[in-house]
Amino acid sequence: MNKHYDTIVIGSGCGGSAAAALMSSLRHRTLLIEKNKAIGGRAALYEKDGFKLDHGHILARCDKGPHGEVLRLVGCADLMPGFSYSQNWPIRAWLGDRQIDLYPSLRRLFLTGKMGRVGRSIDMKAGEFIALARMAARQTFMSEREIEKFDQVDLKTFLSRYRHNPYFRVFLEGFSVGIFGSPVWEASAGEMIRIFRNVNRDLGAVGYPTNGEGVSAIPKAFIKAARRHGAEIMTGAEVQSIVIENGRATGVMVNGEKIAAERVISNAGIMPTVTRLAGAGHFESSYVRTISNLKYSCSGLSFKFALKKKITDYVWGFEIPFDVQKSYNDMIAGRRPDKFIVMFFASSNIDPGLAPEGCQTISCISGGPVVEPGTFDWSPWMRDIRSQIERMLPGINENIVFCKEDNPDHIAAFNGRFYGDAVGAAQTIDQMGDLRPSMVSPIKNLYHVGADVGWGGMATESATLSAIYLYDHFRRRLSNDHGCVL
Ligand SMILES: Cc1cc2nc3c(=O)[nH]c(=O)nc-3n(C[C@H](O)[C@H](O)[C@H](O)COP(=O)(O)OP(=O)(O)OC[C@H]3O[C@@H](n4cnc5c(N)ncnc54)[C@H](O)[C@@H]3O)c2cc1C
Repeated sequence: MNKHYDTIVIGSGCGGSAAAALMSSLRHRTLLIEKNKAIGGRAALYEKDGFKLDHGHILARCDKGPHGEVLRLVGCADLMPGFSYSQNWPIRAWLGDRQIDLYPSLRRLFLTGKMGRVGRSIDMKAGEFIALARMAARQTFMSEREIEKFDQVDLKTFLSRYRHNPYFRVFLEGFSVGIFGSPVWEASAGEMIRIFRNVNRDLGAVGYPTNGEGVSAIPKAFIKAARRHGAEIMTGAEVQSIVIENGRATGVMVNGEKIAAERVISNAGIMPTVTRLAGAGHFESSYVRTISNLKYSCSGLSFKFALKKKITDYVWGFEIPFDVQKSYNDMIAGRRPDKFIVMFFASSNIDPGLAPEGCQTISCISGGPVVEPGTFDWSPWMRDIRSQIERMLPGINENIVFCKEDNPDHIAAFNGRFYGDAVGAAQTIDQMGDLRPSMVSPIKNLYHVGADVGWGGMATESATLSAIYLYDHFRRRLSNDHGCVL
């Protein structure tokens, strides 16, 4: 192994693996160091007994969004996995006391003129439907400059005109928690508009890879692209610290040895990078305070079910309690809500290669408070959520081969994070636009990528996008980094 690199990337989450592909394509001698054996961080794959289960769940716009953009930028579009798109999936939602079935799929319901039936099942009036269609049309054509004006407007205020229908309100409030891990009264309307605009422009194309690798197909494709461009990848090796000399990052320490580099890009999370890996003493105290006070998305409580037979045809489903606000407030305050916001994703219904023949894989997630690992008893939470999943998916309990339960402490440990947050630094009104932490650190030659610094949509997408912004920064030597300053 070379002992001097142009660029060292710490971590192989979507942000880190994208950064390795992009930087190596600029002919930087690049080394990526990942502490786990598996590539992908929160988008890694868990494999056991012939079952392949995701650490996280579905992706955003797949080949059309920033994930595809990275592979196109580095000339490796051929590495793009195939995708299945959500318009073709059967989806079931429980909104308060109503059950809504998009069956056999949204596309089929549209084509056969049956969307009216769905609207009626949640008492939606024609006028409300028209107002929504107008809003969707307006968002689809919004420019980035127009959207920026909404970055510091909360979603609740923005959507107040569309909240007459109680079930639509429940959906939007739950959607905000599901996508951002933040409630509508904190989440940025700008971020929601970006998601809807992009998804609308791609004709609703939210999707999932179909090459037998689950969501890990994305970071793995980035890693393959990085290798094509000559990058070296070290897995199962933890960076102990970032070496800072005379105010500059000059390399990293691994197994007690220094590996030198011109620059270090960390995907290890902004707080662990500043306080643990680099050391708070190298930064101004006001910067350390800002980073230490960052607000995070809610934490993730995750269940990966390996089942001996298929128990549901639905690919995607979620349950959102009628009083989402109370449920969220209870959850974030560390009180178990009467009903949790729970999402399931039956990945093997899309890609049978993820389970042995006749079997099924289902991942479920819910949220919890953001607390320091080891300070909270998650067991009653895991028990309650598991019971709720059993009510949503009858038969799941009787058919378990195994269920891997990951509470936020596991998620934090696996990904080297301070907290077991599901998404990253919250995309809330007080942390968007100019208030978002920058990819460029105050220490010379030290940079950040990942969902803590990224913005511009759903979690994995924002992580990947942060690497594209950094690539632009290096390629064009921009004097500012897209207006994102700390
Ligand atoms: C249960 C769950 C469900 C989710 N569902 C979705 C979803 O449906 N859609 C969606 O878009 N997003 C989802 N997310 C969120 C999404 O997975 C994350 O926001 C995104 O993957 C974060 O990527 P990242 O680049 O910030 O880095 P991470 O994925 O956090 O990766 C960081 C990497 O750095 C490595 N690392 C850390 N410290 C060191 C060190 N010292 N040395 C070497 N390596 C180190 C870690 O091991 C890790 O591999 C979900 C997350 C969870 C947990």
